[in-house]
Amino acid sequence: MKASIWLGGDKFEIRDIPIPEIKEDEVLVKVQRVGLCGTDVHITQGLFPSIPPKILGHEFSGDIVDVGKNVDKSNLGKRVTCNTTSSCGNCYNCKNWTISRCSNEVKSTGAFAEFSVMPISSAIEIPKGMSYEVAAMTEPASCCVSGTEMIDYKSDSKIFIIGSGIMGILCLKFVKEKSIDYIVVSEPNPIRRKMALEMGADFVVDPSSKSYEKDIKRLKGEHGFDIFIEAVGNPNLLSEGISYLRPRGQALMIGVHPEMSNLDYDLYDLHYREIKLFGAFGRGNYFSSVPERIENLGLEKLVTKTFNLEEINKAINLTAEGHGMKYMISP
Ligand SMILES: [Zn+2]
Ligand SMILES: [Zn+2]
Repeated sequence: MKASIWLGGDKFEIRDIPIPEIKEDEVLVKVQRVGLCGTDVHITQGLFPSIPPKILGHEFSGDIVDVGKNVDKSNLGKRVTCNTTSSCGNCYNCKNWTISRCSNEVKSTGAFAEFSVMPISSAIEIPKGMSYEVAAMTEPASCCVSGTEMIDYKSDSKIFIIGSGIMGILCLKFVKEKSIDYIVVSEPNPIRRKMALEMGADFVVDPSSKSYEKDIKRLKGEHGFDIFIEAVGNPNLLSEGISYLRPRGQALMIGVHPEMSNLDYDLYDLHYREIKLFGAFGRGNYFSSVPERIENLGLEKLVTKTFNLEEINKAINLTAEGHGMKYMISP
C-alpha cells in the first residue's frame, strides 16, 4: 500500500509498504479521509514528542474491508470513524482517569496511508448520511466534548474563547448547546472570525485591532468572564485569558501547549481570586458517542480543502500558517 512516512522535521516520503496484517480481533480499514491536526504540525516542529520514522495521521474515517477471525463478517463494508487507541476497561487509568489513556491500549496504525489496522472496538460505525469528512472530525470533537464537560455552566455564563481554529469552533459548538448566549471569540484571522460568527459566536474580537483592549473591557463587564477557553496552545494567551476571569472563574486548556513551556502568571492572583484551571488533553470517554453528536452541527463547512497523500507538506504548511480551517488528506 501507499503510505506517507514521516522521517523527522518536515520530511515525508511516499513509500510502497506491505498492508499491515490483522490479528484475530482486528479490522482492516480503507482510509477515506484523514484530518490534518495542529498536533501533526507540532510533531514536525519538534514541539510534541514523537519518534520517526512513523506514519502519522490520527483523525480519520473509512470502510472496513477485512476482519480478523474473531470478528463477525457482518462488519465488512461498514463506514467507520477510527479511534486511535483501544481500552481494556480494567486498568487504573480506565477506571480512574479515562479510557483514552488506557495502559493496555492497542494503537491504530497511522492514517496517512491507504489502509489502517485497529481492534474492532476502535472502529465506530457512523450515521448513514454522514460524510467521511465530518466523520474524520470525531477525534478533535471528542477532545472538545471531553474538555467542555469539565466545566460548570450557568445559563448566564459569560464565556471567552481565544482561538477560532477547529478546536475553538468545536468548543464553541458544544458550549452553545448548553443554551449560553454570551460567547466571545478572539481571533486575528478574519476568515476564522467570520466562521466563528456563522457557527454561533455572539461576539467576535480581533486581538490585532487598536480597539481590542476597549472591546475586551466592555465585553467582560465589571466582574470578568465566568469561563475562559484557550484553544491555541500559547502560554501567553493562557495568561491573558486568565487575567480576564472573574473571581472563581474557570479556565480550560484545550490547545496543546509546547512540552516544557511555562505559565507566566502571578500565582498570588490565581490563589487569591480562586481561579480554577483545567488541563484537557484527549478524548475522555466520549469517542464512540460523538458521531451522533456532530452529525447535524454543520461541520462540513469547516473543511477548507482535501489533498492527496503526495501533497501532505502543502497541507501541513497551510495548517501551520493558520490559513483556512481544516485540511484533509484522501489517501
Ligand atoms: Zn488531532
Ligand atoms: Zn485500561
